[in-house]
Amino acid sequence: MRELDSVSRLAGHFSRLPGVGKKTAARYAYAVINMQKAEAEQFASAILDVKQSVGLCKICGNFTDADECEICRRRDSSVILVVKEPKDVAAIEKVREYGGVYHVLHGVLDPNNNIGPDDIRIKELLSRLDGVDEVIIATNPDLLGEATALYIAKILRPFGIKTSRIAHGLPVGAEIEYADEMTLSRAISDRKII
Ligand SMILES: [Zn+2]
Repeated sequence: MRELDSVSRLAGHFSRLPGVGKKTAARYAYAVINMQKAEAEQFASAILDVKQSVGLCKICGNFTDADECEICRRRDSSVILVVKEPKDVAAIEKVREYGGVYHVLHGVLDPNNNIGPDDIRIKELLSRLDGVDEVIIATNPDLLGEATALYIAKILRPFGIKTSRIAHGLPVGAEIEYADEMTLSRAISDRKII
């Protein structure tokens, strides 16, 4: 009975992961039972390691296990591409065409849920505009993403920095995270000044 409890407890954890239903969670739990002990230990410690070592880059807000992420340390910081979440950075990096740096907002403006400019990383964006030639706003092309893009464009205007919005090669309501690489590449290269 105890074993059964621990299996369902593990399955319960898996089922809280995005995209994992009850059946898949149970299959994952049984897969763990079939692992060699060493493999299971490595799996468990990989989960703990990630929680202990990964934080936010103090410049862009992307996940990193250092003070400043690899992208901020090495890349052209005169162009900043603004995204909603770290997942979006990963999606755009897969395209391998963008050579600038990022700014992760960790959310979008959402007045109905009381998320205002102080709740996402807008102040942090304003504090890193020295030497910046262009800010590309790549929030999702949905209602909140568009409203957030317009708000950021408005507050950037007094700084006289070129501000652009990724093109609508992305269908309205689409998410950057799930866009294919062709579409993302076109959306960035066809961006429009706003
Ligand atoms: Zn960074």
